[in-house]
Amino acid sequence: MKYYLATYGCQMNEYDSAMIASMLEDVGYYETENAEDADVILVNTCSVRKKAEDNIYARISQLKPLKQSNPDLRIAVLGCMAENHGAKITDTLKHVDFVVGPDQYRGLVDILALPPSKSPHRQQPKSVLVGFDSAENYDDNFAKILSPFSTHITIQRGCNKRCAYCIVPFTRGIEKFRPVESILAEVQKAVDKGVKEISLLGQTVNSYRYEGNSFANLLSKVAEIKGVERLRFTSPHPRHYTDELLWVLTHTPQISPHTHLPLQSGSNDILKSMRRQYDSEDFLAIVEYLRASDPFYGVTTDIIVGFTGETEEDYLQTLEVVKHAQFDHAFMFAYSPREGTEAFDWPDSISEAEKHRRLQKLIDLQNEITRQRSQNMIGREEKVLIERPSPKNPEEWMGKTGNFKNVALPADFSPQAGDIVTAKITEVRGWTLRGEAINL
Ligand code: SF4
Repeated sequence: MKYYLATYGCQMNEYDSAMIASMLEDVGYYETENAEDADVILVNTCSVRKKAEDNIYARISQLKPLKQSNPDLRIAVLGCMAENHGAKITDTLKHVDFVVGPDQYRGLVDILALPPSKSPHRQQPKSVLVGFDSAENYDDNFAKILSPFSTHITIQRGCNKRCAYCIVPFTRGIEKFRPVESILAEVQKAVDKGVKEISLLGQTVNSYRYEGNSFANLLSKVAEIKGVERLRFTSPHPRHYTDELLWVLTHTPQISPHTHLPLQSGSNDILKSMRRQYDSEDFLAIVEYLRASDPFYGVTTDIIVGFTGETEEDYLQTLEVVKHAQFDHAFMFAYSPREGTEAFDWPDSISEAEKHRRLQKLIDLQNEITRQRSQNMIGREEKVLIERPSPKNPEEWMGKTGNFKNVALPADFSPQAGDIVTAKITEVRGWTLRGEAINL
């Protein structure tokens, strides 16, 4: 049986898809890259923005002719949209056979063994498997390793924070932590296969705790495994940067000097109304600590402008924090209310034009900072993990520095994906650094 698996959204979904691939291949399925060839099509979905959901609905609708030409085809919708909309999906998209939420993947193999609906207009009864399971953390299911040198490993699922604008707690449930032994066993399996870079994943990854172990303990234990050369994690929450964690981050050579630290707003009033559980002073103290250990420590972020009630003064405070933090990169958005969240019912009083103005000015500011931070890298010697040939220039390969910057290197040293080389940074082209491999 051939399966085709399409994944949308965050790295958590990518990990879940790799885990699902492993579950299916353990019982004899094999993957096809072509939906037309598949016996089973799985769509792992994202609910974080309405626009993302609309695009995914459109993509699933386009699968209908495949069902018409092959009535034995099974189509399953997985992930956050499955949890968010449940049976509404099979009601509106009748060619979909199964809907399975993120806490129910253990039942996926059995549900896929059910007979498919023979008609694109009618689905099987009992085809919707959703709902939260507070005990399910898939600790005995390791994900398929998709890259020979780098892999993600989920250590924490769900979120207890309930930020006012966010749908995640409603689609992923409360936080759950995977046992330390299970995580270490998955890391060991990955390095045994040659993986050098491990990224630990969680919705608020640094809230991790398990039987007396903190996130800092866990990082130290993973870093001790022979073969782990680069250790990353995403996404941390500013509230959970303890002194112990900051010390481990700045004293463990295997941990890459980069953190993705979501700011969201620089105004303490807006942070409070978003229910983010930190203020801008707490946030900047983390950045200052990391940059004191290494001025080139990579800090990236997410920022929302135009959140309900954001005044010009609040917005200007965000710009001030951005100037102070000197982020290496930022994902920046204009606020758009998300149905199902608490803030959806709050008056969205800022016009789209005004949100756009605020966003554009922020992007201009951040782009300038990003450019400057990249320029500052010129002349430095950096360890670069080689990832792939450049899609733009066949004579170059792409890699990443420890502080998470893309580097293009001339391919005159016969690079292989997964090599770690020392490179001297020579110039900045657009958003990419360019360098030359040295000491080969
Ligand atoms: S911390 Fe806030 S933004 Fe992040 S997943 Fe949890 S509720 Fe959503």
